[in-house]
Amino acid sequence: MGALREKFWELPLEQLDRAEWEALCDGCGRCCLHKIEDEDTGEIEDTNVSCKLLDTGTAQCRDYRNRKAFVPDCLRLTLKIVQDVPWLPKTCAYRLRADGQPLKDWHPLISGDPETVKHAGVSVAGRVISETDAGPLEHHLVDWDAGSDGAK
Ligand code: SF4
Repeated sequence: MGALREKFWELPLEQLDRAEWEALCDGCGRCCLHKIEDEDTGEIEDTNVSCKLLDTGTAQCRDYRNRKAFVPDCLRLTLKIVQDVPWLPKTCAYRLRADGQPLKDWHPLISGDPETVKHAGVSVAGRVISETDAGPLEHHLVDWDAGSDGAK
């Protein structure tokens, strides 16, 4: 794996190599949560229910390398998917860069500290329940953007 280029996160997404693409993630864990789509309106509601592979304490995947074997429908984000899906949070590093926005100052690549994602209220660490314990998703609707300063 080659070295990451200096300030690679300022380059257009399509210019990133595989390692840089992976390193762009802020580790918030929001894309590892279940969402509910309203069949009639197509509206998407967030829940605080995580994929069974997510470590709910750290918001990290417990087996990122082999996750497809355990969770076949886990989506590997690509540029096209980032542009197409409506459910990535507006704080997501890929979403921001796809929209030509800079990373937020709490992003670990900018702050140099993975903890700043938590301090900004963006990380799901310690705020979610695993799908193996949760029961019906309808009982776990949340508004992740309320009360976080992640959008700043
Ligand atoms: S929502 Fe975006 S930044 Fe957050 S964990 Fe998922 S891919 Fe990474």
